[in-house]
Amino acid sequence: MMAALLHGAKDMRVEVYPRPEPQPGMALLRVRRVGVCGSDLHYFEHGYCAAFVPTRPFVLGHELTADVSALGEGVTGLQIGSRVTVNPARACGFCEHCKAGRGNLCQRTIMLGSASTIPPTDGAFAEYVCVRADQCHVLPDNVDDGLGAMMEPFAVALHAVKRVRSVSGKRVLVTGGGPIGLLVAIAARAFGAAPVTVSDLVAGRREIALKVGADFALDPAAKDLPPQVQEIALDGFDVVFEASGAPPALRQAFDLVRPGGSIVQIGTLGTQDIPLPANLVMNREIEFTGSFRYGNVFDEAIRLVSSARVDLRPLVSGTLPLQSAAQAMIQAADKAQALKVQIQIQ
Ligand SMILES: [Zn+2]
Ligand SMILES: [Zn+2]
Repeated sequence: MMAALLHGAKDMRVEVYPRPEPQPGMALLRVRRVGVCGSDLHYFEHGYCAAFVPTRPFVLGHELTADVSALGEGVTGLQIGSRVTVNPARACGFCEHCKAGRGNLCQRTIMLGSASTIPPTDGAFAEYVCVRADQCHVLPDNVDDGLGAMMEPFAVALHAVKRVRSVSGKRVLVTGGGPIGLLVAIAARAFGAAPVTVSDLVAGRREIALKVGADFALDPAAKDLPPQVQEIALDGFDVVFEASGAPPALRQAFDLVRPGGSIVQIGTLGTQDIPLPANLVMNREIEFTGSFRYGNVFDEAIRLVSSARVDLRPLVSGTLPLQSAAQAMIQAADKAQALKVQIQIQ
């Protein structure tokens, strides 16, 4: 088969690569569409992603729509020919976290298209990929390939919104207007948040945020930010979702959240420690929570899209063929222009 292999920083080559064989319990998928994620961009840019350093060239990609092409021994409940999206995080299923329904915290998770394992686990920038059968979620006909490949990032957003008790009627701020930030804004709005505000340093991203459903867009570096915030949210936002992964945005979240409010950290901040105003956490009773990947929200994500409660189409900003995988990475890295860039494989 053909696959796009990452050989090092900014070195992605489309070449012939062995097609994986479905082991017992696994499904061989023929990839139709795959999205470029921020983590893929980290790998492409640096050759590694935070603490994950690949020990050999490998295939990125974990946001996909695919057809079930073959099944390993013992698979039931999944048909050859079904069109599916994939939960790329394969939790062990047996540890305390998995059994408590918090598989995203499973320390034995095998993530598709990631160097979190040694050797790295190949992903979906390829004609075929193998996953455990229970990672597949069948797509209804009205969720097309492009939307199917949006289910993984949308699941990240849904999980984040569920990390606070409720956003219904709450004044929500999302810091960072990239794909995940916008998906969080869209999910919060669908769950009744009002108003929903997105902040981003890039003017183009603020414009897009308003187009996809944010009520307000703020420039976090604006000199008159405090009066702007006051107009929208009086003494602060009820909930701040930090989706930029930028340390100054997290620091600012503590000033923009109201006393008694919540901050949810979704953005990846790198491995270095960051000073935080712990005293504000105490004397304003701020709840500071993390959100990592997703719980069992894929079928809910599919239903919300299928029933048109949310429209994720405006987030897909470009589609390129597998041969142009490196170009897709470069295009996706252009924050002023691109949102979600996808690779079409068949
Ligand atoms: Zn992703
Ligand atoms: Zn586990």
